[in-house]
Amino acid sequence: MKTERLYQKDVYLREALCEAAAVYRTPEEHAAAGIKFREGAMTVELDRTVFFPEGGGQPCDLGTIGGLRVLDVKEDKASGAVYHRVEAGELPEGPLLCVLDWQRRFDHMQMHCGEHIVSGLFRSVYGIENRGFHMGDDYMTIDMAPGEDSEVSEITDEIVRDIEMKANEAVWADLPVSTVYFDTREEANASPVRKKIKFDEDISVVFIGDREAPLDCCACCGTHVSGTGQIGLITILKGENYKGMLRLTMKAGRHAVKDALRDEQIMLRVCRRYSAEAPELEAKMDAAEAKNGLMRKELYDLKKDILASEAGKLLAAFASEPDRRFAVYEYPILSASDLQDLAHLVEKKAPGLAALVSGKSPDAVLVSSGDPACGQLVREYASMYKGKGGGNALQARAIFGSREDLALFLDLLEKHLRR
Ligand SMILES: [Zn+2]
Repeated sequence: MKTERLYQKDVYLREALCEAAAVYRTPEEHAAAGIKFREGAMTVELDRTVFFPEGGGQPCDLGTIGGLRVLDVKEDKASGAVYHRVEAGELPEGPLLCVLDWQRRFDHMQMHCGEHIVSGLFRSVYGIENRGFHMGDDYMTIDMAPGEDSEVSEITDEIVRDIEMKANEAVWADLPVSTVYFDTREEANASPVRKKIKFDEDISVVFIGDREAPLDCCACCGTHVSGTGQIGLITILKGENYKGMLRLTMKAGRHAVKDALRDEQIMLRVCRRYSAEAPELEAKMDAAEAKNGLMRKELYDLKKDILASEAGKLLAAFASEPDRRFAVYEYPILSASDLQDLAHLVEKKAPGLAALVSGKSPDAVLVSSGDPACGQLVREYASMYKGKGGGNALQARAIFGSREDLALFLDLLEKHLRR
């Protein structure tokens, strides 16, 4: 049966006593009624409801029915019935008290109304059309593209910022918001609708502002605040190219204000860190970044010098003991990745096997002239001491969890090579 939608008469109604027209509990009962079954849930059909079912890009309302939590609300387009999926449980006898999660609903009312204002302004000021809409939990996206009669070919950031300011001016003007229900599309299309209406059932048209010259007028089944002042704030966060359109992410109402207050605190902290006022923050960050870049370059040059000098010492040590089969060299301040660079400078010139050990981590870089093959030694022996790593015949890295394991690994290599 068709469910009476109480929110259409009073969008501020937060609770109501409603009669259950039917309750579907088993998978069989759901199947017979053509409703999807979900484990641990049952479906309640009501004679009237305060819950907005999912539709028109707006998520459904949540709350409780007879004390049971509502999980989702959907409408059956053919019959007009509204199905409320609630957690499985016992419903009380008699009329059921239906209570909205009001904060969620009011968020949606603020958001949807904010979206109308933004879409209406894009259309009237620049001839830019809303081609798609999605409402998430705390944000919305709208896909915009210039219409055929538009004088703009591209939606610039300047345009977006202009609309954002005009949208907030519409909030301050506290324009009335009304929903009008029409019996035929001809009657509905006589209003200055933003998009011509192409359906004949349940036509509702939302007007923002004066009915004769509205800021926006559009067919919409969603829920909206009764005056634009209740939105508080509208922000347009970002624009991304999407299938040849511009996808804008926007916020309106509580979530926009919450973000703005949070961002203000972040901004204050970052400004303090850079000893800057907000307008000069980016310039100060750029300067700090440039300084860091110079320091990184200096460090790179210094390291290159150190590695060249260490390579010289290593080659001299190799030359002094051409018959040595294994030697360990310790480097307190060089990291394992520095030692890999060092290994590159001396590989192919090492007699036997050299292990370069980092003082920064329990890692070793093996280097040889290819015999013994370094990678193979790591693969065969490192895992015996919970180590891992790898490399090629000329050099390989072995990584351990502790210095003790690394020492055991090096001992083993020495014994192995003595044979
Ligand atoms: Zn709407």
